[in-house]
Amino acid sequence: MHEVVEKVLVSQDEIIHKCAELGAKITSDYKALNEVPYVVGLLKGSVPFMAEIIKHIDLDIQIDFMDVSSYQGTKSVGDIRIDKDLDCSVQGLSILLVEDIVDTGRTLKEVKRTLMNKGAKDVKVVSLLDKPDRRVVDIEAEYVGFAIPNEFVIGYGLDYDQKYRNLPYIGVLKREIYE
Ligand code: 5GP
Ligand code: MG
Ligand code: MG
Repeated sequence: MHEVVEKVLVSQDEIIHKCAELGAKITSDYKALNEVPYVVGLLKGSVPFMAEIIKHIDLDIQIDFMDVSSYQGTKSVGDIRIDKDLDCSVQGLSILLVEDIVDTGRTLKEVKRTLMNKGAKDVKVVSLLDKPDRRVVDIEAEYVGFAIPNEFVIGYGLDYDQKYRNLPYIGVLKREIYE
């Protein structure tokens, strides 16, 4: 375990098993809809989760990435700036957004609204983690790996000060590191 980690919340094994489970569910749901999702990862936190889950989606998907950030100083407003947009038009696409964690829900709500405004047919969300106690806007991911308590976590894509994204598990960051 890394020295900045208080405890491991979700192990690498548990994540991989969960990706298999979610991937199978996503596959059967989209097959039932007779649709193939355009799978969009939100940079950078979704990268390890995206890499694992797509192996378990048994459809001829395409993948893409988007990078967004909240407007500085307007946290309570919830506008976003698109730092890297998708490679193609979303017109008529069924988009499956891949996210590391849903916290207040502001990011996802704005990204979803932006994509629908640009003509996406449908936007669904798969998130590795969910902190339901922290939600301030009304949005839920259709597919969630693990609901976790309100603690600051790192690893498997999640950073503290842009570090620790490469840890192969989800761990709680020691308070002394950020307090
Ligand atoms: P939201 O708009 O839902 O409040 O923000 C979600 C984003 O906040 C996530 O994509 C992630 O970048 C960041 N975030 C929320 N909770 C945590 C956490 O516990 N650890 C880390 N590293 N990032 C978090
Ligand atoms: Mg994020
Ligand atoms: Mg971050």
